[in-house]
Amino acid sequence: MSPAGRDELIALDRAHVWHPYGPMPGRSDPYLVESAEGVRLRLADGRELVDGMSSWWAAIHGYRNPVLDAALAEQAGRMSHVMFGGLTHEPAIALATELVEITPAGLEHVFLCDSGSVGVEVAIKMALQAQRALGRPGRQRLATWRGGYHGDTFHPMSVCDPVGGMHSLWTGVLTAQVFAGPPPAEFDEAYAAELVTMIERHADEIAAVIVEPVVQGAGGMRFHHPEYLRVLREATAAHGIFLIFDEIATGFGRTGRFFGADHAGVSPDIMCLGKALTGGYLTLAATLCTAAVAEAISAGEGGGLAHGPTFMGNPLACAVAGASLRLLRGESWVQPVRKIEKGLRDGLEPLRGAPGVADVRVLGAIGVVQLDHDVDIPRATAAAVAEGVWLRPFRDLIYTMPPFVTEEADVARIAAGIAAAVAAG
Ligand SMILES: *Cc1c(COP(=O)(O)O)cnc(C)c1O
Repeated sequence: MSPAGRDELIALDRAHVWHPYGPMPGRSDPYLVESAEGVRLRLADGRELVDGMSSWWAAIHGYRNPVLDAALAEQAGRMSHVMFGGLTHEPAIALATELVEITPAGLEHVFLCDSGSVGVEVAIKMALQAQRALGRPGRQRLATWRGGYHGDTFHPMSVCDPVGGMHSLWTGVLTAQVFAGPPPAEFDEAYAAELVTMIERHADEIAAVIVEPVVQGAGGMRFHHPEYLRVLREATAAHGIFLIFDEIATGFGRTGRFFGADHAGVSPDIMCLGKALTGGYLTLAATLCTAAVAEAISAGEGGGLAHGPTFMGNPLACAVAGASLRLLRGESWVQPVRKIEKGLRDGLEPLRGAPGVADVRVLGAIGVVQLDHDVDIPRATAAAVAEGVWLRPFRDLIYTMPPFVTEEADVARIAAGIAAAVAAG
């Protein structure tokens, strides 16, 4: 593309196109991507960047993956979409069946919807509707711990971290939920007791506890001890409160286990999947629940779950998700994720103690460098780009979750990009 063509597109972007969490018109120029292949993004000016972000946890098999491309093309040749009310199709049936097989025991029913935030809305609706149907209509609140992120629509926002999620912007608008402190990295009896106390104290008004298992993503990239998930499981079950695991970021091998729940061997009542579900090709989320939740809802007022999006069960998205799951079969992801984990440890540990660095942590194919100040995002991003790496820091965090197909040399390059961003940011 000519430099003039690029400049014109960027000017139009700034004038008209809203970007995540951005002002309008835009204040800084985004990078123009022309194509992507494997782990590389090709910019319109010809530069190539190793993608350290997997397009926000999603592109685990890299870009233009031949298997996913073929699944998409094959499905487009049959039908791209049909309504899901009164109609069904093989891609959705096959995907739902496989999700029931691979998710923790007890999850038997699958609601396919458009995006992660909607998937969390559906999970919350399931919990509220089931409590109502069970004769406990007073249970309308949710409980969680600080530091979480569950999406940008209103009910998910209400369970995001109150500070990081800017609840002050929404005083009087968001439902006031019940919060425990942020979960510590190590197991702490006092914190476990705090969780139990929260649940006991609010048992009559809580419909469900919702958490991200093992890794809190966009709320602060914090890791916690899996034992807390067992504590939550026991305490919620004792009070007829549902446990929702939001695995939208942690699912599909990212943390070194297939699901975050697998670190604790715990089954939730409701589970949300998204992001890497389609290998980053199309927007799709799935909310799974147990037979008990489904039976309560279906026997209650209304006789069914009060939700049904236009693009529910989109065949293109389901077909590519099915292909992505086939690529993950047979634990083929385990070694690649381990290699990335080792590469990130080797590459990032030397940054511990560097000026401005507060913490370095790695789990599975996730690497985080936390600074002692907010990152200068344009400067840090430009420094990584100069190293040939795409990163998108936020708050005080410079972090990476590369595609599982990233080779050792490219993991080392990502670590070098992070080091450059730390020095600049
Ligand atoms: C990204 C994310 C969401 C929201 O998903 P969207 O597809 O962006 O709506 C919800 N929960 C978690 C844990 C996430 O990481």
